[in-house]
This record gives sequence, C-alpha cells and structure tokens, in this order.
Amino acid sequence: MDHASFTEICLHQLKMSGVHDGETVVVLTQGDERREYADAFLAAGRRLGANIYHLRIPAAPITGGWAVGQTMLGSMPEVVDALKAADMLIDCVFLLFSPEQIAIQAAGTRILTAIEPPELLARMLPSKELRENVECAGELLAGAKHMRITSPHGTDVSYTLNTFPTLREYGSTDEPGRWDHWPSGFVFTGGDDDGVNGQIVVAPGDILLPQGIYVREPIIYTIEKGWITDIRGGLEADLVNSYMSSFNDERGFGMSHVGWGMNPNAKWHGMEPGLFPGGMGMEARSYLGNVMFSTGPNNELGGSNDTSCHLDIPMRGCSLFLDDEAVVLDGEIVVKELQFT
Ligand code: FE
Repeated sequence: MDHASFTEICLHQLKMSGVHDGETVVVLTQGDERREYADAFLAAGRRLGANIYHLRIPAAPITGGWAVGQTMLGSMPEVVDALKAADMLIDCVFLLFSPEQIAIQAAGTRILTAIEPPELLARMLPSKELRENVECAGELLAGAKHMRITSPHGTDVSYTLNTFPTLREYGSTDEPGRWDHWPSGFVFTGGDDDGVNGQIVVAPGDILLPQGIYVREPIIYTIEKGWITDIRGGLEADLVNSYMSSFNDERGFGMSHVGWGMNPNAKWHGMEPGLFPGGMGMEARSYLGNVMFSTGPNNELGGSNDTSCHLDIPMRGCSLFLDDEAVVLDGEIVVKELQFT
C-alpha cells in the first residue's frame, strides 16, 4: 500500500465532506480491520486542521451469517456518546441499519461509511458534478408519482410512488446528521406497499448482491400488489429461491427500494471478486444507467418491513420512465440535466 497516495484520496474526500479547522472527526474501526484507513484519514484530517482521532473497538464475534444492523456498539453506550459528540464520523466498520447509527445521526453527527477497497475509493472519488447530478436526479424521482421499468428481455413492471421519500447517495457528506457511503452515486425510493405489479426479467450480465455474481440465465420475477409471487428460471433462479427460503420469512418476498445509477466512474464490468477482495458491490450499484430493484425490507425508507432477507439487483440495458417520461432508455441516461460533461 502506498500510504501517501491513500492519504491524498482521503484528503480529497474530507474536503468534499466539508471538514475544516477545529471540527471534531472520529475514525471508527474494528479489530484488525482497515487500520490503514484510519492512518490515512488521520493524516488527511490533520492537514485540514481537524481535531481528528481514531477509535478502535474489538472485533465482532464470528457468527454464521451477516446480521445487518447488529454491531458491537449495542453494548458500548459510552462509545456511542463519543460519536454523538463528534461533528463527523468516518465509519470503517459498517454501522448501517443499526439503531446506534440512527441515534448518532439524530445527534447531528454526519456519517461517511468507507469500507470498500482503496482501489475502488480511488476510482470513484466524490466530485461536485456527481453531487449536482445525483441531487438533480433525486429531485426528479421525488416529484414522480409512478415509475415503469421495461427491458428487451421482458421486464415490464410498475411502481406507484406515493409513500416513501427519495434517498440520494453521492459519496460525501457535509450536512449535519446526514449519512453517505463512499463510493456511491445513485438515487432510490420505494413503491407503495401494495403498489408494485408486473414482471421483472433479470437478464444475463445483471448482478445479484450480496451474492456478487453475474447472472447467466434469465430469472423471471412475477410481482402482484407489492409481493413476489413466483421466481423461475435456471441455475440463478434456483440460487435465489434457495437463499430467500432459508430466511423462513415471507416478508423477504416484499419489494424494497428501486432507482438508478449515476456514477460514470463506476463500471458494470468492475465486479471481480478476486480483484479487490472486501468490496460489497457499491460499484455495481452505482454504474451510470443501471436500473436497480431490490427485494425484502423497506424500513430503510421508513416502512414497516424489517426482514433481513435483502437482495439488490442492478440491471443493464433497461428503460425507466417517471410519469411516462423517459429517464433511462436502454441503459442510457436521456435526461439532459443528468448527463455528465
Ligand atoms: Fe439495498
């Protein structure tokens, strides 16, 4: 690892996140993980005059699965208090979906998650243009009442949008209490609880997360009134059915967030598990013009479904319409204000 260059990209990040002289910034890590991230952020933060320090908690116990939202902070109220007292938290652990993260944000601390491999952080640096375009895309989505997604493979699904807010991720954060994830670049909302109907055909080359695989055979989802009633296809459909049924939770068959990717530096082909181990698929979620639907919980948006059975599925070559106006056509962003120079 070239520590000097890692410090430089962290410096860029902290500037984009508005870190300035006298602010209190905490870098949180766990066990042996990402100690070099802490070093890089500390060096960068000092150069901006921030009051920055590193807080390291013990490694989490080994469990049989990934339990979203459960962290060591649940038994460490004094650590949570320290994080609430900071202006900014750099989260190198992954606190997302935890009650502690919600409490820290509510106290006014802004949070930036940074857990992806340094190579991806470097490739997908935040920028002013990315933020402006994501905010513009978020305005469009927030104003829409209906979304339709189609594809040459047979996808034709409609979402009514009267319930949930629109979330924007652009990979930096400079507002009190606001969370973001570096790297990112997309917008999403959720359909009304009974307002998603139609068929989604996940096509070869589309991506299953958290599995981190490219689909080779189509997966055909049938959706009625917000619930998946059938999943069929080949090998990958079998994998999805087996994975989802293992949760013994029918709420996993609900429809979760939906939106599109906005980051031109993210690449569809970038997800190679052997290449940058440790990534969780943020590049796949972010690449420009992907249309991502997801299944399972909607509590992230304020809904009542908090199942832990959650898949994110970024798709290529789709068309997405908001109130009958095309935003994405065959995988290309066609709204002029959302295009990059
Ligand atoms: Fe998701």
